[in-house]
Amino acid sequence: MHTAELQSIPTLTQIGQGEGVYISTYGCQMNENDSERMMSLLEMMDFHSVPTPEQASLIIINSCSIREKPVHKVHSEVGRYRKMKEANPRLRIGVTGCVAQQEKDQLRADIPLLDFVLGTDAIDSLPEVIARVRLNNEPVVNARFQHQAPYHIETLIRNPGVSTFVNITKGCDNFCTFCVVPFTRGRERSRPLQHLLTDVQKLVDRGVREVTLLGQNVNSYESECGVNFAGLLKQLARQTGIERIRYTTSHPKDFNEELMDVMAEHQDKIMEFIHLPVQSGSSEVLERMHRGYSRDEYLGIVEMIYSRLPNAVLSTDIIVGFPGETEAQFQQTMSLLNEVAYENIFAFAYSPRPFTKAQHFSDQISESVKSQRLAQVLALHKETSYALAKQYLGQSLQILVEKFDDETGRVSGRSRQNKSVYFTGGRELIGQTVTVHIQEALPLVMRGERVV
Ligand code: SF4
Repeated sequence: MHTAELQSIPTLTQIGQGEGVYISTYGCQMNENDSERMMSLLEMMDFHSVPTPEQASLIIINSCSIREKPVHKVHSEVGRYRKMKEANPRLRIGVTGCVAQQEKDQLRADIPLLDFVLGTDAIDSLPEVIARVRLNNEPVVNARFQHQAPYHIETLIRNPGVSTFVNITKGCDNFCTFCVVPFTRGRERSRPLQHLLTDVQKLVDRGVREVTLLGQNVNSYESECGVNFAGLLKQLARQTGIERIRYTTSHPKDFNEELMDVMAEHQDKIMEFIHLPVQSGSSEVLERMHRGYSRDEYLGIVEMIYSRLPNAVLSTDIIVGFPGETEAQFQQTMSLLNEVAYENIFAFAYSPRPFTKAQHFSDQISESVKSQRLAQVLALHKETSYALAKQYLGQSLQILVEKFDDETGRVSGRSRQNKSVYFTGGRELIGQTVTVHIQEALPLVMRGERVV
């Protein structure tokens, strides 16, 4: 939108007129964060969040295209709102997120009742877009990447609570052959170091105790002044009052000794939980995936992590049934899962994504083989993760308390290792880090008793 057009719009901050917004969010933490950002912007326009679409005069579907049939999901959700739209002429409906970015004008052409389609780089234009669709009743499609524009945003979170997410990078330049992200989130860009230091300190001043630094590939962060991810972690640990720092997702090829040295040096603040997506245990498959590391190189990184940080806890992502994956190559993934003590894994059967190279590979694997392999991975993981969880029995963990449940009278929080831990306690513990003796331990959830 041009400045001249903006000037003709009266009182941007009053456009919501106290009406309701319903945001339907799919997909990853990046999308969750984008929805929160959109809601913050809309509240500044005098909208408020409502829990059901029926109460809303603005509905936003924040879409995800990482899994199967994403466009179909958008069609079917909009279809559910068709009658509401006919009955309520004030109702405006828009699609944002990765499907919006991927489909652009086509989405509105296919679903004419959509009032707007907003790509992943256009979130901050939401107020102007809503003004146009509300005041001028004109449909808007804004899904151009701003590749050259600096990534200068302020973290917008309405009620950050004890633990919150902070975007540090967006986009990805890696072009793994199975992944649609570079096409839906654009080229990688990093936020300026000083903005992040200021943002995190402001969150601390609002009561935040823990931040998770967020990006598709956080450890390729590079600030305008050349500070890398290790440098960012070091400065956040030294220059802000944040108590706990986590990050996700890291890429094995960008993991280096400097990063591990900083994590080891600042263990008081930087949590030892590391999500390190391997995707496959076969070097041949990794090469076809364009991951930038071999099996041995990955194992070398794992070894380096444990040598610097013996108490590190790892999780990973696995794709089974990538095109051309032989039974022997799949078994290499199984053997890697036996070799590395992952406490959690996210395993998926490969499915072709638009724009990606791998969708054109001729040696696609049958659905039945993919399902069998996925079942094997999940069964193995179930076995190992339960065994690893048992090691926590009788241990005392440091829990940052995040929530109190009125019904059960229990509080919950997370350990340094990212385990959710429940124990009896009062609301006044929220925001405190307490010691809890673990009495029951499942892979992701644990129960215990506070040590006082
Ligand atoms: S690193 Fe690969 S898998 Fe991760 S977002 Fe980038 S292209 Fe996708």
